[in-house]
Amino acid sequence: MAHGPDLAELERPALEAALAERGHLRFHAGQIFRWLYRRGVTDFGAMTDLSRELRADLASAFRATTPALAHHERSIDGTQKFLLRLADGRSVESVFIPDTPSNTFCISTQVGCAMACAFCLTGRMGLVRNLTAGEIVGQVRVLADALQMRDAPFNIVLMGMGEPLHNYDETMKALRVLTDAQGFAMPARRITLSTVGVLPALERLASEPVMPNLAISLHAPTDAQRGQLVPVNKKYGVADIIAAAKRFPLRKRSRITFEYVLLAGVNDSPQDARRLSRLLNGVKSKVNLIPLNAAAGIPFDRPSDAAVDSFARILSEHGVTVSVRKSRGRDIRAACGQLIVEGQKKSAAQQLAVAAFGDR
Ligand code: SAH
Repeated sequence: MAHGPDLAELERPALEAALAERGHLRFHAGQIFRWLYRRGVTDFGAMTDLSRELRADLASAFRATTPALAHHERSIDGTQKFLLRLADGRSVESVFIPDTPSNTFCISTQVGCAMACAFCLTGRMGLVRNLTAGEIVGQVRVLADALQMRDAPFNIVLMGMGEPLHNYDETMKALRVLTDAQGFAMPARRITLSTVGVLPALERLASEPVMPNLAISLHAPTDAQRGQLVPVNKKYGVADIIAAAKRFPLRKRSRITFEYVLLAGVNDSPQDARRLSRLLNGVKSKVNLIPLNAAAGIPFDRPSDAAVDSFARILSEHGVTVSVRKSRGRDIRAACGQLIVEGQKKSAAQQLAVAAFGDR
């Protein structure tokens, strides 16, 4: 394979500049984008609307890297999990969730995660490294190919491994590439960024040209409870998050989603529901309840369906729009919070040993 800059890491303006530097017309960047993202072609020789000279020069000066599909599993409910191997041998997981009601790609932004939320398996790995923009978009390229969905509409949720706002620059770059009119041309409203609430980055996001939908992982209505579940709450507390959410610029008719993982006996009482609805009073929001996906080593229980229903009913009675996330792909460990890469578990255990967060 050729060496040189990786075209999969370049936004279109940067690709135009790289072409110009080698004496080519900037215009070819759009053609190359269409090959890479619309047709899934990374072999420069096959880019037949480019001149032979340009193809040869591209092949000598650049490369175009794609994560390798290492493993693929299908759940009885139709959810599919993809293990992708990256150029340095690390791996990430991406998940395809059919008809929710749209087809959704759940994409990772980091290998592991530094946030260490108490109920999340990925959090147990610690942060191994950030993904590059090319690796984030690469997951979409691989899934679109594997699922033969290059021409089909789908949504993207940044809810896989990692905290997208903890890998801000590469995540934003990935969003610009995904929404580029010559590439996938994803409408920004089909992309949802889910964050635990890294506030300075959230403020920055408010002024970005490409504005995804926003989901904030809240999980508890008080700092005392949230601090036990989400370590970063000690830095950015509940009131700060709500204030930032109120200031956040939203598209017409759109709202912020608050995700709330329900843990039996921890944050699922009627009082918690009433507190949550008071907290969200005046915030253009909806609540997505996620009954815990339990796993070995996660010291919490999933509430009963009746408890989930009654929590949802209280919210709804207080005027909060609420939905309950159906757990998908649990049999293949593809559900929320279950993404952890085998073979990296050892380093996860080592990280755990040094992590200083309580007795999880
Ligand atoms: N770091 C981002 C996005 C990744 S996780 C964030 O925190 O929002 C996507 C969602 O799955 C988050 O709301 C997260 O809290 C939730 N989640 C994590 N572990 C879970 C588990 N075991 N069961 C259910 N949901 C979980």
